[in-house]
Amino acid sequence: MIERFLRPWLGGIFLENELTTSSRMMEFVFRMFAEGEAAVPARGMQAIPDQLAAGLPAGAVRLGERVAALEGHGVRLASGEHVCARDVVVATDGAAAARLLPEIVAPKWRATTTVYFAAERSPVNEGTLVLNGTGRGRVNHLAVMSDVAPTYSPDGRALIAVSLVGDVRESDAELMARVRAELAEWLGADVNHWQWLKAIRVPQALPVRTPLVREEARPLRDGVWVCGDHRDTASIQGAMRSGREVAEAIILRG
Ligand SMILES: Cc1cc2nc3c(=O)[nH]c(=O)nc-3n(C[C@H](O)[C@H](O)[C@H](O)COP(=O)(O)OP(=O)(O)OC[C@H]3O[C@@H](n4cnc5c(N)ncnc54)[C@H](O)[C@@H]3O)c2cc1C
Repeated sequence: MIERFLRPWLGGIFLENELTTSSRMMEFVFRMFAEGEAAVPARGMQAIPDQLAAGLPAGAVRLGERVAALEGHGVRLASGEHVCARDVVVATDGAAAARLLPEIVAPKWRATTTVYFAAERSPVNEGTLVLNGTGRGRVNHLAVMSDVAPTYSPDGRALIAVSLVGDVRESDAELMARVRAELAEWLGADVNHWQWLKAIRVPQALPVRTPLVREEARPLRDGVWVCGDHRDTASIQGAMRSGREVAEAIILRG
């Protein structure tokens, strides 16, 4: 059970196979999977920030602006412009937060690579995580995204996402050969007819949060706050809870 199910399942979520991640994270993940379905937004992950932003007054969000530094009461943008604010909330990833704020220690990261294929038909026909329970190979799991959300395929073919844990240094050609060979063992020679779409390497996929301590929502110094997944569980839930708690603390201060 541990080797064939829990290790590949949790390893694919924690992005490490040794299972050294905090047991608190394990309890959080277990609860999330027990309480609801694994899902993706029909219109893609961008639908989540779009929905949050839709509740804000027009013009409140400026996109494509990099903050170069916190300066005086506000921030200096990469363009040189200074934006004044009573409170500044640094809601970047942990590495960027550490560059902007000397109080923050840059996190270590877990990496992942996702390889996308298109196939004439789904090899599983259900929205299920197909885990590698063999204890061998580099593939952690695959999911047929178009079985989970049919809108993820523009042409009725199956969109297959294959996930690997850790840094993948091979070229795309080497990676394709390795992934096809491994998956052929699971699913047969059909995999050789799948169309390779893309490999996406994410070296900074999850900040390491061991031990897992939830940081309190209080200012680092006068008018400077920080939130994000590096302050809570390394997850969308953690990022959103951390952001909401900081926002509520600022509102409460009046
Ligand atoms: C492949 C993959 C799969 C995942 N799957 C899941 C999952 O199924 N469930 C789950 O809960 N979590 C998942 N995660 C983790 C989840 O995506 C992150 O924990 C979450 O997105 C972190 O949100 P955040 O707002 O803290 O940081 P981010 O999403 O990193 O957002 C920070 C933002 O700050 C911006 N920024 C950085 N520096 C600056 C600057 N100087 N000025 C202005 N802006 C700046 C960045 O451009 C970015 O938009 C996954 C992650 C990966 C990589």
